[in-house]
Amino acid sequence: MERSCDFLVVGGGIVGLTIANELLLRGCKNILVLEKEKNLGAHSSGRNSGVLHAGIYYTPDSLKARYCIEGNRLMRDFCRENKVAISECGKVIVADSEEKLEGLHALQQRAQRNGVESYLVDEKELAEIEPHAATFEKAIYSPSTSVFDPMGVLEALYSKVKRTGEVRVLFDTAFIEEKGGRVALTSGGEISYGKLINAAGLHADVVARHFGVGARYRSIPFMGSYRELTEESSYLVRGNIYPVPDARMPFLGVHFTRSTSGRVFIGPTAVPVLGRESYGFLEDLGLESFRFLYRNASMFMSDSGFRANALSEAKKYLGAHFYSEARKLVPGLTPRDLISSAKTGIRSQLVDWEEKKLVTDYVVCKEGDSLHVLNAISPAFTSSMSFAKYVVDMLFEEKAPEAQ
Ligand SMILES: Cc1cc2nc3c(=O)[nH]c(=O)nc-3n(C[C@H](O)[C@H](O)[C@H](O)COP(=O)(O)OP(=O)(O)OC[C@H]3O[C@@H](n4cnc5c(N)ncnc54)[C@H](O)[C@@H]3O)c2cc1C
Repeated sequence: MERSCDFLVVGGGIVGLTIANELLLRGCKNILVLEKEKNLGAHSSGRNSGVLHAGIYYTPDSLKARYCIEGNRLMRDFCRENKVAISECGKVIVADSEEKLEGLHALQQRAQRNGVESYLVDEKELAEIEPHAATFEKAIYSPSTSVFDPMGVLEALYSKVKRTGEVRVLFDTAFIEEKGGRVALTSGGEISYGKLINAAGLHADVVARHFGVGARYRSIPFMGSYRELTEESSYLVRGNIYPVPDARMPFLGVHFTRSTSGRVFIGPTAVPVLGRESYGFLEDLGLESFRFLYRNASMFMSDSGFRANALSEAKKYLGAHFYSEARKLVPGLTPRDLISSAKTGIRSQLVDWEEKKLVTDYVVCKEGDSLHVLNAISPAFTSSMSFAKYVVDMLFEEKAPEAQ
């Protein structure tokens, strides 16, 4: 039997749930969320670093910069109100050599332009904040960076929207294709809808294609793996210690994060993989893997930043190299302090295939009664509650921007 709803949200990650919540706040009813997995948080939203970013890194005109600062505040308030674990521990960004100082100062200027509270501190001040971190002359201190429990947020938000009786999450139900006439074929049968919002994370570009959206983009999945400090060595890190990132890539570099459970994670790496859900060796490989292989090879040849990243990230598979990178931030680290970690996550990174460039911002495309959130990369968890307002505004806008 065909079901019907006013709003059909594809994807029950943080982006889908915050959009469902925002629809409720605007008085919308009869919202269905399709989630292909049996549980919450099976992909990026449950497999990230759990850092509430302050908004330092992003170019001032980007959607990331626009929604990260307010998103940080809204998520922090949500955690406090819903008793989700959050540690307002701040973060430092350190320069591991004189060459990185220029990048550090550029980051500080960008933070100021974005209106983010951040301070340049000297080595003595750094020692008071993170006694075991090292820097060359100066570091950035960001007090509004926090660490939170992403699964706790997903569960609390899910309970909140479900309680209203206007949102139903259909687990184990996948969007398969658009039949036309606002009818979606799902693994649970056909569903007719008024408006559809695609928040399918790693698969958002695939869903978008069914609506003729996003033809200029291709995706390349990047795996992030972590290591951990042993319990005895966890005193080495109080909050977050980050390097100055490579400005050519949309990744922040391997960093130390003390999670709300007290475990200290080091990572994530950013290694291209051959499956959207290829969390383990040989997992999720298939015909599409050849496409990812081809895309990686093309980008390797045409983009020097991509090439540099691929070479340096590949080396991080070697324990010794990973250790030497981590030791640049915390010189007292010894190889015995590091242990392997089961934590892994995959980023849904888009490439603008016409320009052969990694897309560094979120992309939102509207086509008729459907709207598509593409490239929901970090800090999309932090931004989500603020970003959802923008998405819903766009959903109701009369004049749609041209689909890309
Ligand atoms: C390693 C790593 C570290 C990160 N660290 C941070 C951080 O510290 N701070 C931060 O703010 N952000 C971080 N991020 C980014 C953040 O986790 C993501 O931006 C965010 O979780 C994206 O949310 P989402 O809802 O779009 O995606 P997802 O969580 O992947 O949700 C999409 C959902 O759609 C479902 N789905 C897919 N296809 C279909 C279909 N056809 N039918 C039905 N359902 C479907 C999937 O099962 C999935 O549950 C990190 C990401 C990674 C990978």
